[in-house]
Amino acid sequence: MLLELSIDELAARLRKKEITIEQLVSESIDASLQENEKLNCYISLRNKKDVLKEARQKDLEFSVDKPKLYGIPFSVKDSYVTKELPTTSGSAVLQNYHSPYTATVVKKLQAAGAILIGKNSQDSWGHGGSSENTDFAVVKNPNNLKHIAGGSSGGSAAAVAAHLVSFSIGEDTGGSIRNPASMCGVSGLKVTYGRVSRYGTIAYASSLDTVGPIANSAADLALVLETIAGADPKDSSSSQRPVDTYTKTLTQQISGKKIGLPKQFFGDNYNPEVRASVLAAVEKLRSLGLETVELDMPVLDYAIPIYYMIAASETSSNLARYDGIRFGTGRDKFLPESTRRIMLGTYALSAGYADELYKNGQRARTLLINSYEKAFKNCDVIITPTSPSLAQKFGELLTNPIENMLADLFTVTCNLVGIPSIAIPVGRSKDNLSIGMQIMGKKFAESSILNIAHIYQTTTQ
Ligand code: GLN
Repeated sequence: MLLELSIDELAARLRKKEITIEQLVSESIDASLQENEKLNCYISLRNKKDVLKEARQKDLEFSVDKPKLYGIPFSVKDSYVTKELPTTSGSAVLQNYHSPYTATVVKKLQAAGAILIGKNSQDSWGHGGSSENTDFAVVKNPNNLKHIAGGSSGGSAAAVAAHLVSFSIGEDTGGSIRNPASMCGVSGLKVTYGRVSRYGTIAYASSLDTVGPIANSAADLALVLETIAGADPKDSSSSQRPVDTYTKTLTQQISGKKIGLPKQFFGDNYNPEVRASVLAAVEKLRSLGLETVELDMPVLDYAIPIYYMIAASETSSNLARYDGIRFGTGRDKFLPESTRRIMLGTYALSAGYADELYKNGQRARTLLINSYEKAFKNCDVIITPTSPSLAQKFGELLTNPIENMLADLFTVTCNLVGIPSIAIPVGRSKDNLSIGMQIMGKKFAESSILNIAHIYQTTTQ
């Protein structure tokens, strides 16, 4: 299958005229149509005739100086508005909603010549980590169809893992790119807050939401990030900072770099196979010349309550606009998980409780930020598992809201602090389920974590 190849390799073959864009895109749309029956990883797919027409046109206009993403098929989570296809964010509340404009991230990819194939299934509004909280069919894990694909960007990770597209754009508020990437055995990048424009994203929690890619390798992530990062006049929270050339620094020397390991995240209270695989990967990095230091960050014990206090408050505010007057159908269409969050957030923000709940959440968030700042004085990156458990069977998280929240233990702090983090596969369990590790970096240090992930991936299988 062509789509098993790296984007670099596909771009090289296109330049050598060994393949055509039409060939590549027809493989992508055919496989997507076929596999979607089994995996449910798309909510909507573009018309085959339209995408092939676009591919043929691109073949005609192709020249060797086109960007590497030219002609490369991709998908996006259904939380990004697009003119081509409807946008639901996984919820019946937005049924039949068709946006008059396209999200900046999609526009940038299209301007580089990448070809949109379809829009991926997700937990509605980004609420969840299993892609089961949806009004559409539930995504299955391509590695094991009896298990969840993770979430909330589960459809994106499954589409990449099944080689239906070269990459997908997910959305990460508390782990929604990293968690499904880890469960499906692919790579996912949560960027620094503000590195990629959020314009055209259906908001979950505006101070935490980030836009980023899921792909087969750190090298592919670097290429996509180079295209989508940067300031956007339409998103005032996007950073003015110049974009690094992430593909150029992938192979830099990494020996001597220091890895911080927070002792609060390496206890014995989660899946032992996950812990063992991550520690083995850290050992591998040590053999490549990196050093490790233990970090003591007691505030990490409060990560989940801090996150859910802030995420629920912001989502109750963001979802207030779906009152049935402006978009599609009414408020009675919210699923129980979202209703729970809206109620929790509304309560936390209400007069008389805001000081104790929401504002204390914000104060605790500052403590968390301070704790990371201090930690990064002693190390270059911080490594933790991506998820405390292996991909669950269907229904296990859906029926246990607390367990569902705890699943985000390792990922949520990056969003609260605003730092980047890459999730990469580091092994399989005895039941052949993927295990992921995340490498967190300082703000805007995407190049550094991509570099370490790339060296790890090219020196291991
Ligand atoms: N699972 C987390 C939540 O439900 C993260 C979701 C996300 O990143 N969109 O809040």
